Amino acid sequence: MDKVVDKFGRPVRDLRISVTDRCNFRCTYCMPKEIFGNDYVFLPREELLTFEEITRSAYLFALLGVEKLRLTGGEPLLRRGLPNLIKQLSKINGIKDIGLTTNAVLLGQYAEELYDAGLRRLNISLDALDPFVFGEMNGRGTNPQIVLKNIELAKEMGFQIKVNMVVQKGVNEHEIVPMAMHFKERGMTLRFIEFMDVGNDNAWSFKKVVTKKEIFTLLQSEFELEPVDADYFGEVAQRYRYKDNGVEVGFITSVSESFCSSCTRARLSSDGKLYTCLFASDGFDLRELIRSGKSDEQLLKAITDVWKTRTDRYSDERTEETAKKRKKINMSYIGG
Ligand code: SAM
Ligand code: SF4
Ligand code: SF4
Repeated sequence: MDKVVDKFGRPVRDLRISVTDRCNFRCTYCMPKEIFGNDYVFLPREELLTFEEITRSAYLFALLGVEKLRLTGGEPLLRRGLPNLIKQLSKINGIKDIGLTTNAVLLGQYAEELYDAGLRRLNISLDALDPFVFGEMNGRGTNPQIVLKNIELAKEMGFQIKVNMVVQKGVNEHEIVPMAMHFKERGMTLRFIEFMDVGNDNAWSFKKVVTKKEIFTLLQSEFELEPVDADYFGEVAQRYRYKDNGVEVGFITSVSESFCSSCTRARLSSDGKLYTCLFASDGFDLRELIRSGKSDEQLLKAITDVWKTRTDRYSDERTEETAKKRKKINMSYIGG
């Protein structure tokens, strides 16, 4: 197939698939419990894309040039039978890489099945080692030991693991160095994520962002770091390595140094809407086309048309004003 590029010449290379909008955490920066309370209405089961529908969509995206898939949520491990989906996705021609982003609470239960299904890469979210800080941030009082234990278990099984830490001013800044030390010693990549204004519910402001520059300065007071070249066009993290042992650290600088010009990511929500930006207001209803019996050619044409007209560059243009006023989809719905 011809290469499909958007209005700024960006190809589509990655597809992030949210498999559920539900989560066992209530992270303050993602699903604050005041909003996602007991009466919050999540998507009913019949609205979720089935595994067959997800696999068909991924197959079509692969024809358009997608090589990498990432499964996310909500908490993807809450979706029943997830290893079966991974088995189906790994058979698609052209897909070179499948990753899963998880809070790892249920990983102990599913790691073996996931590994047997062919999954090798995990991004695990952990915002602090301090039980009080982590318990407050995850909104459920969950102890970090559960996550740390499952990280060790998955590492021993042979998974390649990256740990993601969202940093918020006045909340977990003091955990930056302890987290760096912990994962450096264990030979695992830790990535610092700048707090983003995803959705409209997380009370975001520039003042609450700890920038890459600030984090880097803090790390430099403890460690000697050197830059690592990007592996491919559109790599999200800026990478460095510790000079003494070569372990990497990364920064996802969506706020202070945006990277829209190389953004090659499409996103599929759990109810089958296609989004071309994490900060979009609306998505394209792919499920409706799939369920109305459209052929692969018709679906391909529809996806191509959406991508070809894409002009997203939200982070390049972000202001305090746009962050507050623009209606944006929730992170737990689209999956990051
Ligand atoms: N539940 C899974 C997890 O937490 O790993 C997967 C979904 S979660 C939405 C995906 C990633 O988005 C996590 O690493 C999370 O920390 C990150 N995230 C959520 N809200 C964010 C925000 N406001 N700013 C930056 N990162 C955020
Ligand atoms: Fe759940 Fe992940 Fe959002 Fe936390 S960041 S509330 S674990 S979806
Ligand atoms: Fe891509 Fe939108 Fe993020 Fe820019 S703001 S990098 S276009 S998802």
